[in-house]
Amino acid sequence: MTTLTCQNYLDGQWLDAFTKNTLDSCNPALVSEVVATFPRSQAEDVDKAVAAARKAYISWRKVPAPARAEYIFRVGELLLQHKEELAQLISREMGKPLTEARGDVQEGIDCAFYSAGEGRRLFGVTTPSEMPNKFAMTVRMPIGVCALITPWNFPVAIPCWKAMPALVCGNTVILKPAEDTPACATKLVEIFAAAGLPPGVINLVHGVGEEVGKALVEHPDIDLVSFTGSSETGAYVGATCGRTHKRVCLEMGGKNAQVVMEDADLELALDGAVWGAFGTTGQRCTATSRLILHRDIKEQFTTMLYERAAKLRLGAGYDPDTEIGPIINRRQLQRVNEYMHIARAEGAKILIGGEIARDGLLKEGNFFLPTILDNVTPEMRVAREEIFGPVVALIEVNSFEEAIAILNDTKYGLSSSVYTRNINRAFAAMRDIEAGITYINGPTIGAEVHLPFGGVKQTGNGHREAGTTALDVFTEWKSVYVDFSGSLQRAQIDNRN
Ligand code: ADP
Repeated sequence: MTTLTCQNYLDGQWLDAFTKNTLDSCNPALVSEVVATFPRSQAEDVDKAVAAARKAYISWRKVPAPARAEYIFRVGELLLQHKEELAQLISREMGKPLTEARGDVQEGIDCAFYSAGEGRRLFGVTTPSEMPNKFAMTVRMPIGVCALITPWNFPVAIPCWKAMPALVCGNTVILKPAEDTPACATKLVEIFAAAGLPPGVINLVHGVGEEVGKALVEHPDIDLVSFTGSSETGAYVGATCGRTHKRVCLEMGGKNAQVVMEDADLELALDGAVWGAFGTTGQRCTATSRLILHRDIKEQFTTMLYERAAKLRLGAGYDPDTEIGPIINRRQLQRVNEYMHIARAEGAKILIGGEIARDGLLKEGNFFLPTILDNVTPEMRVAREEIFGPVVALIEVNSFEEAIAILNDTKYGLSSSVYTRNINRAFAAMRDIEAGITYINGPTIGAEVHLPFGGVKQTGNGHREAGTTALDVFTEWKSVYVDFSGSLQRAQIDNRN
């Protein structure tokens, strides 16, 4: 494979970093293969991006929203045309199986058409005034220059989730993609550029989080930061945005659980558990990392799960036989491995997996065997901390109430799932689970772009991405009063004594 050369995209031009320094991204299934070289940008590059976005904002906010949306429709069409090429690149640079990589792009396509449709809505409200001859309404206003800081696990979908609604709403954006997936971000921004967006409306700055990401978050001329990533970085981003008075939307960790009750369809629950826990190698924010099993089915279900996990085929994402791809990088591979020591030390039992894969070609990449941890209790670290790998912890419970209490016993609150045939339990679960997303008889993964995406508690900061809720992230409300009486009318607070 030839190594791709990526550049920053600033004010409509493709440029190297000011310092000319570069970094490499590699194929996680074959770490000796360099996929791309990309700029190691610094504060100077960020300054240029912010200046370009600020300048472009002056006219972009005045482009009618339906016309702004037409650019995003075009991005959607181009994504459709380039879907396979992008999916191949995602598989090579991020590692996920091709079918899932196509899904990553498809999510971008869905988001394009959904967000672009909003260009003809962006509804406000009209409402009666207290006074005669006075008109009252609300309108959405763009916020300004938005920094979009994104992770590597959905290298196309997540930047689309953020950039598309931001642009339709009239903001200009600077994308700072993850260090592990610069080529995916570059191809995506090439598509935005090919859709004809005016210079400066979308900018791309590559580099290290602590350098270029930090420079963005600290920059005084950025109005909003939308961040998806780890809780540690998110806490820093949130605190810095608080200090520097920026709007901020945070999507952070999860410790998602699937409950399987004794009345569940076990085959269905098994399909859900395998997909939820091991799909994308457990590297989705919504991945199932706890399985809460009723004691009556625990043994049977564990055997069924074991048999399925034992058959999963590991390999490079672009190999059509692969079911489980690699882990993104060596650091994360080691982190997952360390959790095995922690699990053992705390008394959990590793039923299957629990180690770095070393067979044949697998040792050339960052592969970890699909892992089931048994005898896990809710206070163990493996039941509380996000691992972000192909690892699922089994917790036995005696009742539905106990299952929900354990599911909720976490600082996170992103996704959740309950398998039951009992309608009363299903509705109680929908009411009582503390999470931004609840699935009934479906796995914890599988969000659709027209519904809000995000979590409660320490997963987020009260915002939701996707759906019409994304508009609330990327706009602010203005209340407009139009007095056509021709005289000063004081509001009720001032005229009723
Ligand atoms: P992970 O690597 O576990 O996905 P991170 O939170 O480290 O999670 O990374 C998510 C995104 O945040 C990446 O684009 C990364 O470069 C960026 N990032 C990391 N550290 C900082 C920081 N201090 N300031 C701003 N962005 C950062």
